[in-house]
Amino acid sequence: MAERVPPPGLVPRPAAASSSVIRDALALARRPGVLSFAGGMPASELLDVEGLRAAYDHVLSTEPVAALQYSLTDGDPRLRELIAGRLTGRGLDTDPAGLVVTTGAQQALMLLATVLLRPGDTVAVEEPTYLAALQCFAYTGARVVSVPADDGGIDVDALAHVVARDRPRLVYLVPDFQNPTGRTLALERRRAVARLAETRGFWIAEDDPYGELRFRGEHLPWVAAQTGARDRTVLLGSLSKILAPGLRLGWMSAPPALLRAVVLAKQAMDLHTSSVDQAAAAHYLANHDIDARLVGGRALYRERCDAMLGELSSVLPPGSTWSRPDGGMFLWVRLPEGFDSAALLPKAVDHGVSYVPGAPFFAGPPDASTLRLSFAGHGREETVEGMRRLGKALS
Ligand code: PMP
Repeated sequence: MAERVPPPGLVPRPAAASSSVIRDALALARRPGVLSFAGGMPASELLDVEGLRAAYDHVLSTEPVAALQYSLTDGDPRLRELIAGRLTGRGLDTDPAGLVVTTGAQQALMLLATVLLRPGDTVAVEEPTYLAALQCFAYTGARVVSVPADDGGIDVDALAHVVARDRPRLVYLVPDFQNPTGRTLALERRRAVARLAETRGFWIAEDDPYGELRFRGEHLPWVAAQTGARDRTVLLGSLSKILAPGLRLGWMSAPPALLRAVVLAKQAMDLHTSSVDQAAAAHYLANHDIDARLVGGRALYRERCDAMLGELSSVLPPGSTWSRPDGGMFLWVRLPEGFDSAALLPKAVDHGVSYVPGAPFFAGPPDASTLRLSFAGHGREETVEGMRRLGKALS
């Protein structure tokens, strides 16, 4: 009998390593009795179960065949029109033809990486940044260069230096209430990044799943809306944080040539995003005052954020610092020198609390003393108790 030959092995991908840190952290967080501040889940109280059930009922009873058949790659025309209307209302004049509905903003990120990046191309990111964006870039074989950032977002002088030195094809930014730090890109820096893109020629990915969750301060216009940026900025958005993440509905608004390439890539990837989910979401958005619901959502997140901020100074080790977000779902803690948040996580879980260690969010050398807390999931009482447990674990 001929010898059995194994099939070829898998392609090694750098994206796999850091994702396992998060997977382990989330698995630990699921232990019974653990108060988890780890995941990026919107508050369950904000999910409109009845409204969405009615929307699905409606589309399945009035247009069952359309809702269940294959549909267009670029998305349900009604949903595109509603999203374009929202973007226009928020200050960026958008034609429905200028956007594609995607399976979450996450797919939009992977599509963008697919059409823009070749192995060895450079992407510049703020430090730290959204882990799953780093994973998308890693899959393409691109080289990720990190740029220092502070409370006002990416350091534009440092970015200018990186641009001159490394000639990135893409600069990836989360300008509002960034994941993981909760920080917001200052207005003058939005203008400066746009000017830099205009004069040096690179693409900007403006990833904005949290922009409608501002609970303090003034709304800031998108980078895409700054002079000179429109024809080189790709704006990504999502229904995940304003309606429900399980719908997996996001979008990309981009210049026509890039969008055409994205539609072809999406065709190869999944043909189109779920017809029934798009139809239900379009029906929901057309028939509910989502802005009125968002007023309540923002108030809830402000209350929860403030409850957490109110505890940190009395529970964290002296010398710790943390961000003070104006919106979104996350805040970022830096423990004193010598603390290692990943090594401390099992101890925290033993005390009945969890978080996400900060290291995987760094494209460059990680700061092991950092960690991300989500304030979205728990009310005041649980937050106070969770922070008390965190303090004990770290003491
Ligand atoms: N970008 C950022 C910055 C995020 O935090 C997330 C979700 N955690 C996404 C994109 C992906 O969102 P979606 O659920 O729309 O795929």
